[in-house]
Amino acid sequence: MVRDLLLRQIPILDFPGLEEKISPLCHRHGIQWVYPVKTSQIVVAQWVRLKCRYGCEHYNTNWCCPPATVTVKEAKEILREYKNALLLSGEADHPHFYRNNSKKRRTQVQFWKGTVAIERELFLLGYHKIFGLTPESCALCKKCAYPDNCLFPKEKRPSVESFSIDIFETLRRIGKEVKIAQHINDHFKHYSIILLE
Ligand code: SF4
Repeated sequence: MVRDLLLRQIPILDFPGLEEKISPLCHRHGIQWVYPVKTSQIVVAQWVRLKCRYGCEHYNTNWCCPPATVTVKEAKEILREYKNALLLSGEADHPHFYRNNSKKRRTQVQFWKGTVAIERELFLLGYHKIFGLTPESCALCKKCAYPDNCLFPKEKRPSVESFSIDIFETLRRIGKEVKIAQHINDHFKHYSIILLE
């Protein structure tokens, strides 16, 4: 299914073994949707950085969040080096969002590792430039080692938010519904982006 969806829009992904390699990873890591996007559809905006700097507890405390990641200008420049990307999405319940953060962390880590695992598989299939942007902030460690050395540098990736990506406008541009979780029992959606080529 993932393969069919991708092939319809990015014929270059037509290599043997895609379905077998990617679908199990999506299943295992709670990734339910994979949308091909043009990088020209990905919107980078200064207001996203503003939200990081003011109102987010992860700012200046995590290697995958600003200011440890790229500047807004660098994010724009990096995106210009790519034409195609994949937008990965999964839905999760977080009724424990405030009560038990370790459960939320498990979901976050699962999705994070899925993004990195898919990035690796596609690299091995020939996408040498491939680079994953992960959701939220890195939660691989209970508390990030920042500013000391990262404990899992091979899995360290900047988050979508730290790239100042306006995920709302990006979703609108590819014709997807944008819905904000209003209540603790609503489903949350996670998004990551893999820059392809
Ligand atoms: S792996 Fe650990 S130390 Fe490295 S960025 Fe993630 S939380 Fe921080």
